[in-house]
Amino acid sequence: MKRLAILGSTGSIGTSTLDVVEGYPDRFQIVALAAGANLDRLEGQVRRFAPRLVSVGSEAGARELRRRLGRVPTEVVWGTAGLLQAAADADADLVVSAIVGAGGLLPTMRAVAAGKDVALANKESLVMAGHLLTAEARVRGTRVLPVDSEHSAIFQCLAGNGMGGVRRIVLTASGGPFRTRSRSAMASITPEEALKHPNWSMGQKITIDSATLMNKGLEVIEAHWLFGLPVDRVDVIIHPQSIIHSLVEYVDGSVLAQLGVPDMRVPIQYALTYPERQPNMVPRLSLEQLTGLTFEAVDREKFPCLDLAYEAAVAGGSSAAVLNAANEVAVQRFLNRRIGF
Ligand code: NDP
Repeated sequence: MKRLAILGSTGSIGTSTLDVVEGYPDRFQIVALAAGANLDRLEGQVRRFAPRLVSVGSEAGARELRRRLGRVPTEVVWGTAGLLQAAADADADLVVSAIVGAGGLLPTMRAVAAGKDVALANKESLVMAGHLLTAEARVRGTRVLPVDSEHSAIFQCLAGNGMGGVRRIVLTASGGPFRTRSRSAMASITPEEALKHPNWSMGQKITIDSATLMNKGLEVIEAHWLFGLPVDRVDVIIHPQSIIHSLVEYVDGSVLAQLGVPDMRVPIQYALTYPERQPNMVPRLSLEQLTGLTFEAVDREKFPCLDLAYEAAVAGGSSAAVLNAANEVAVQRFLNRRIGF
């Protein structure tokens, strides 16, 4: 039985993780959950999965959740202290890090420092502090397992092969909703349009990041830290169908790819069951019904965020943390209609 703590349990990745867990009652046990403000969803999760500990964003939220839970024996904690308590829960074997944005850094660090394996969705923590996080994981001997579909694909394509034979990593990007829109029409894009991703259903921030391609820039930096390659050996290609989740090119010219339907439950499950694979109910990829797999270069003028991320990675130091912070503020302001796309 693997015991899990899920940070960000009420979000898109958090709920998909609990979907996966529900399919294997004999394999996983939830010992801690942490979320922000969505008490309705969190209350349902506590009743369904009976964790020993749950953390919410605010003291008022904790009081309200405690009142609602009545006789349910789960301990309710709150704020940063509560989140860190959930991240380092003594009973947890694996921590799923799925809080959005910079708020994910401290609990992810705490989980690694407590010697936990981490299934990492919160790419921002690697972008901001990849040097610290990977160094701490090395010292503690813990594993940072990728949840991001692209990085899970790379991880799977690397299995059984040493990094010495790798020429480059190629991350695929759908291109988002504005791949074919003219540059002159970009300025009028609304939050509603930008929140409609063609292939994936995700939280708001990453959906906007996908529309600007900043998400792919963050993923380049994430790949650099996860796999130890310089960013000039991490490339990006547009693949609008989101069937090939990423590729590894080896020095002998072989290219290995991982394919599947775009469903986050697959990479989440792989991180939870690694190194095993387990059957599941996710729809199968029907090769017969695929109408084509196409590729194109990124229009780097239309999507300047990608090169900003490469520049920040090359500059090193705190540049990527600054990039990440600037992006979080810009996304929030765009969603609040204070700035344009
Ligand atoms: P969501 O916005 O759907 O969920 C965010 C989660 O974080 C919610 O549970 C939210 O709680 C919680 N949260 C936010 N702030 C705090 C805080 N201060 N304290 C405690 N909990 C907090 O995001 P996603 O699930 O889409 O994304 C999560 C992470 O995974 C991001 O880093 C994203 O880049 C990454 N990722 C997401 C993918 C996806 O398919 N969605 C794919 C690959 C990576 P509440 O809602 O209760 O306030």
